[in-house]
Amino acid sequence: MGKDKVTEEYGSLLFTDKVMQERLPKPTYKELTKVIKEGKALDLDIANEVAHAMKEWALEKGATHYAHWFQPLTGITSEKHDSFITPKDDGSVLMSFSGKELIQGEPDASSFPSGGLRATFEARGYTAWDPTSPAFIKDEVLCIPTAFISYTGEALDKKTPLLRSQVALAEQAKRVLKLFGKDVTSVITTVGPEQEYFLVKEEDFQKRPDLVLTGRTLFGCAPAKGQELEEHYFGAIRPTVNAFMKEVDDELWKLGVPAKTKHNEVAPAQHELAPIFEQGSLAIDDNLLAMEKLKLLATHHDLACLQHEKPFDYVNGSGKHNNWSVCADGKNLLEPGANPSENLQFLVFLAGLVAAVDKHADLMRVSVSSAGNDHRLGANEAPPAIVSVFLGDELDAVVEGLINDEAVEAHGKTRMDLGVPMLPDVLQDNTDRNRTSPFAFTGNKFEFRMCGSQQNLSDPNVVLNTAVAEECDEFASLMEGKEGDEFTAAALDWVKKTLKAHHRIIFEGNGYSEDWEKEAERRGLPNFKTTPDALPQMIKPENIEFFSKYGVLNEAEVHARYVSKAEQYAKLLNIEANTMVDMAKRMYLPAISEYSSSIAGSVATKAELGIEARAERELVSELTGGIDAIYDAVADLESKNSDARDIEDPQEECDAYRDSVIPAMDILRAAVDEMETIVADDYWPVPSYNSMLFWV
Ligand code: ADP
Ligand code: MG
Repeated sequence: MGKDKVTEEYGSLLFTDKVMQERLPKPTYKELTKVIKEGKALDLDIANEVAHAMKEWALEKGATHYAHWFQPLTGITSEKHDSFITPKDDGSVLMSFSGKELIQGEPDASSFPSGGLRATFEARGYTAWDPTSPAFIKDEVLCIPTAFISYTGEALDKKTPLLRSQVALAEQAKRVLKLFGKDVTSVITTVGPEQEYFLVKEEDFQKRPDLVLTGRTLFGCAPAKGQELEEHYFGAIRPTVNAFMKEVDDELWKLGVPAKTKHNEVAPAQHELAPIFEQGSLAIDDNLLAMEKLKLLATHHDLACLQHEKPFDYVNGSGKHNNWSVCADGKNLLEPGANPSENLQFLVFLAGLVAAVDKHADLMRVSVSSAGNDHRLGANEAPPAIVSVFLGDELDAVVEGLINDEAVEAHGKTRMDLGVPMLPDVLQDNTDRNRTSPFAFTGNKFEFRMCGSQQNLSDPNVVLNTAVAEECDEFASLMEGKEGDEFTAAALDWVKKTLKAHHRIIFEGNGYSEDWEKEAERRGLPNFKTTPDALPQMIKPENIEFFSKYGVLNEAEVHARYVSKAEQYAKLLNIEANTMVDMAKRMYLPAISEYSSSIAGSVATKAELGIEARAERELVSELTGGIDAIYDAVADLESKNSDARDIEDPQEECDAYRDSVIPAMDILRAAVDEMETIVADDYWPVPSYNSMLFWV
C-alpha cells in the first residue's frame, strides 16, 4: 500500500468509534460509549440499534455472515459462522441481525476444554459481546469479539478473567490516584506484544509430519551452521519474506491492528512483528489476529509460518515479549514524574510492582508454562525460569538509596520537600537493556519476557493486573484518611518498607549464569524448571484466595484452569511421542534400511571381485547398529507413552510425561539424528535443518 492508501484503508474493516459515531443516532452512540468506557450494562433497545448499524456497515463491506469470536482455554480463537439470511414467504431472503444475536451466542460448548467446569455446572456455554473490542470483518464475516462463559457465569475462556482483572486493577488504582488528588475516570493497562516466528518453505513443511502435527521438529541433526555468525539479526530482509511481511502489514492495517516494526531475529529463518501498544485486552485480540494472519498469509508466498516456541533445536526458540504499563486518563503511570509529588506516585506504583512480582512469582511462572515454552525458559536463550525484576542502573540506585535511607543524587539536588527523591532525567530514555532478565523496566513500562510465542497473553496479564491491584488495594487501605504531609511521609515510608521487603526479587546481573541460580535459591526465589513443576502452584489455597478476592477467578474456575493446563501438557506430549514413533517406524527405519541394503549390496559385489571394501563394511554395520537402536528406542517410547497415558490423575500424568516419556523421546531422537549424519541425503525422508533454515 502506498502512503495515501495506508491512511485510507487503515481500519477500513473495523467497526471503529468513528464509524459508530457516523452511523448511530446520537443518544444511542452516547449510551454505547458509556457501556464501553464505564462498563455500564447494555440494554436490548440499544443493542438492536447497534446491531442494525453494524449489519448495514458489514453488508456494504461485502460480509454475508457474522460470528462470535472468542478464546476458549486452548488459547487460540474460535468462530462459528452464521449467515445474515432470513427467508421470506415469497421465497426470497432478508439480511437480518438482531441485538440479541449481537450480544449473546450459544455455541455448542461441549467440544471445548473446560477442565471439568461444564460437568460441575451446566452443559451449555454462551458467548457475550465484549463491547470494548471493536467488531471487524474477516473473510466476509462480521466478527464480534466475545467472552465465553457457562450458563452459571463461570469463565470458560481466556478473556473473561482478563477483563475482570482489568476492572480490579482500575478500581484499586483509582483509589491510589485519589490519594494523590487525582479523580480519574479511566484506568487501563497498555500492552505491546512482540511476536516472534519462523518461516520455512511450505513444501519442506509439508514433508515433515512433526512440523505439521506438532509445530516443531522432533528430529534433525545440528545444521553445519547455526546462529553463531550473528548475521541474521536485523539483517536485510529477503524478497520473499519482505513480500510476505508487506501483505501481513496491509491486511492487519485494514483490521486496525497497529503493526509497526518488522525485522529478522537472531536465529536463521526467524523474524519478529511488533505492533504499537494498545489497551490490554484489545492488544491481545489484535495479537491473536496477527498470529492468524501470519499463518494464513504465509501460504500465499509458498511459506509456512511456525509459531511454536522451539521449532528447531540448536538455534534460538521464539518468545513474545509482553510490554506492560498502566495508563490513567491517558497518562502513563510508569513514566517517572517531573516533580516530587509525581515522583512519589511513580515510586508507589514501582514499589507496588516489585512487591506484586515477588509475591506472585510462582503464578507469573505458571502463567507462561507450556510444553513448548519448557524448551526455552532456562535454556540460555530466553530468560531463566526464575522470575526476577531488572530496574537498570539509575533506577536501581534510586531504590538502593531509598532502602538504605541514603540521599540519591539527581538534577544536582538530592531530596526535596519531605524527602521525596528526584528521579534522574536520563531515566526517561533508559536504554540499559538486560536481555537475560525476565521482567525488565525499560524506561516507562515493564517488559515481561518469559511468554511463549504461541501463547495467548491473557494468562500472564491476568496475574500481573491482579497482583498490582492487590498492591494498590493494600496501599490505599493503609493511606486512606491521611492527607498532606502526613500522607506524603506515610507513602514514602510505605515505598521504602515495600522495596526493602521485596528487595530479593531485584536482580541486575546475568540471568543465564549458574551463579544466579544458586544466588536465587539463597534468596528463596522459586525456580520451577518445567510445566509440571510449576502447575501445582495454581491451586495452592493462598493463590486461589488471591484470584477470588478480586473477583478474577473463583475456586472452581482456578481448578478448571489447572486441570485444563495439565491436560493440554499431557496431550501435547502424547501427540509428540506418537508422531515420533510413527515417523521412526514408517519413515526413518525404512530409509536407513534401504540405504544400508544398497551399501551392503555394494560390499557383496565387491567381495565377489575380491575387494575388501573396509569402509563400506563398517558403514553397513554402523547403519545396522543404528537401526537396532532406533527399533529399541521406539519400543521403549511406545511403552512409556502408553503407561503415562493410562494415568488418571492429571498431575501424575504430567509428571510421568516429564520424567519418563520426554527422556525416551530424547533417546529416540538421538538415535535417529545420529543416522542422519551418515545416511545419504537422497535417502533421507525429510528435509534437513541445513536445507530448511537457510533458504527462506
Ligand atoms: P524492543 O523491546 O524490541 O526494543 P521497543 O522498546 O521499541 O522494542 O517497544 C517494544 C514494544 O513496547 C512495542 O510494541 C511498543 O509499542 C511497546 N510499548 C511502548 N510503550 C508502551 C507502554 N507504555 N505500554 C505498553 N507497551 C508499550
Ligand atoms: Mg522487547
